[in-house]
Amino acid sequence: MAKSDIEIAREASMKPITEIGTKIDIPTDALLQFGPSKAKVSFDFLEGLESKPDGKLILVTAITPTPAGEGKTTTTVGLGDGLNAIGKKAMICLREPSLGPCFGVKGGAAGGGYAQVVPMEDINLHFTGDFHAITSAHNLLSALIDNHIYWGNSLGFDERRVAWRRVMDMNDRALRDTVVSLGGVANGFPRQTGFDITVASEVMAIFCLANGLKDLERRLGAIVVGYTRDREPIYARDLKAEGPMTVLLKDALMPNLVQTLENNPAFIHGGPFANIAHGCNTVSATKAALKLVDYTVTEAGFGADLGAEKFFDIKCRKAGLSPDAAVIVATIRALKMHGGVAKDKLGEENVEAVKKGLENLGRHIRNVGQFGVPAVVAINRFTLDTDAELAAVQEYVTQFGVEAIECNHWAEGSKGTEALATKVVALCENGGAQFRTLYEDDMGLFQKINTICRNIYGAEEAIADKKVRDQLAQWEEAGYGHLPVCMAKTQYSFSTDPNLKGAPTNHVVPVREVRLSAGAEFIVAICGEVMTMPGLPRTPAANSIHLDDAGLVQGLF
Ligand code: ADP
Ligand code: MG
Repeated sequence: MAKSDIEIAREASMKPITEIGTKIDIPTDALLQFGPSKAKVSFDFLEGLESKPDGKLILVTAITPTPAGEGKTTTTVGLGDGLNAIGKKAMICLREPSLGPCFGVKGGAAGGGYAQVVPMEDINLHFTGDFHAITSAHNLLSALIDNHIYWGNSLGFDERRVAWRRVMDMNDRALRDTVVSLGGVANGFPRQTGFDITVASEVMAIFCLANGLKDLERRLGAIVVGYTRDREPIYARDLKAEGPMTVLLKDALMPNLVQTLENNPAFIHGGPFANIAHGCNTVSATKAALKLVDYTVTEAGFGADLGAEKFFDIKCRKAGLSPDAAVIVATIRALKMHGGVAKDKLGEENVEAVKKGLENLGRHIRNVGQFGVPAVVAINRFTLDTDAELAAVQEYVTQFGVEAIECNHWAEGSKGTEALATKVVALCENGGAQFRTLYEDDMGLFQKINTICRNIYGAEEAIADKKVRDQLAQWEEAGYGHLPVCMAKTQYSFSTDPNLKGAPTNHVVPVREVRLSAGAEFIVAICGEVMTMPGLPRTPAANSIHLDDAGLVQGLF
């Protein structure tokens, strides 16, 4: 039997983190160490690199996935190791996992097989405390709001329109809707509110998009926390909250350095939701990596219709990044699913179904092309995939002028991605990238939504009630019209129906609700159900997690 991820991770011969730092010229005194194998990299050191030229930036994205995930994280790790194996100075940037899914649905968030980042238990559990810092900063603002109301409410909060909730990093459906301040006069004015999971906090999104501490502070101050009776917005800065929140976040904003199983450097930093937020690791980590190495490989959450679009239109636009290449991960099982094969039959060879499902991949390839970024397809090979199925993919993609390369990093580590790494280097060095965002800042907000729906989702159009359109018009008037749009929709289809596979056309995208994230600087367009506080399944993964007699964590993966 194949070894489990945790067995492989435990067999890793980790190097001291100082040695990993040395590999990319980070002096030991610039590392704030958390034990032997984790460290934050000091801002002072990173600021000193500003005059250095940036290396190449490579995005790893994927076709429309099955619920099991198609291997973006695994491929990011594998490609980073592959680039190092062919002699390039490379590192990866990934998101930090949340505790919620760890104890909910079994599954690691640190890669898999022979393409993992370590120490994986630490990374998946408390790591360097960033999520604690973000949770605390968020809840400090919550406390300041209720305290302000308690002491006379001079800002005039309409208590029914406090927009700021509380957060914790756990799946706990009992907290979705709550009443606070019960118990008498000394406890304030009772009102309804609730909890979201920390990764859904706007503070998390801000943390991930901030260009340094000053920008972090400015954005925190710009959070809209509620409204007066006249519907005038009240900002976090009106409560003087941005100063203390920044103090709580100042150490967390330094990127976390760890290593892959092959002892190559990795930043794991920040982890915003990929629906109501943009689903990418921090700008601080990405920018630091670009200064430290020649090739930075990073992942964006969900399929390319959501992940890549938001990476390009939100993160790259806002941080001034210019990606050089994109890797679109495809699996045979997902292609078969798009070709109409039932879940329990995905393990059987079916070349015809693969061929039928390829239209999904085709649209993702065309979409990435709209951003002017050259792409390559990585076929993440599973044990049961057949050569005939792989050949069908390779033949299909030639019509787009791209290559599909078989990758075996899960089974073999870097040896399995050397071909992909060589291709990625060629794409970067050919200088073929002419990065452009999908829409300009000055396009109307609804028009931005419509542009994404038509050009990326293949939809006829986006539709919305008058209420939604009026709200967008109001924000345009209030000076938020230049913001990009963060689409929140299912990742399981180009449409808003998760069961509609392949590359649907002529569908309409209903925009149910819009939200302003004034600090994160985007407008969220909600198309479908969005859960900001997940629940645990009937049998949570937590049931089988324990410490064994040797003190090792069992059951986590
Ligand atoms: P994503 O980042 O796209 O959600 P991951 O890289 O996290 O996907 O992979 C999802 C799961 O699938 C992980 O548990 C990983 O170990 C597993 N996996 C990925 N690639 C393979 C493969 N080639 N063979 C078997 N399992 C794989
Ligand atoms: Mg992932």
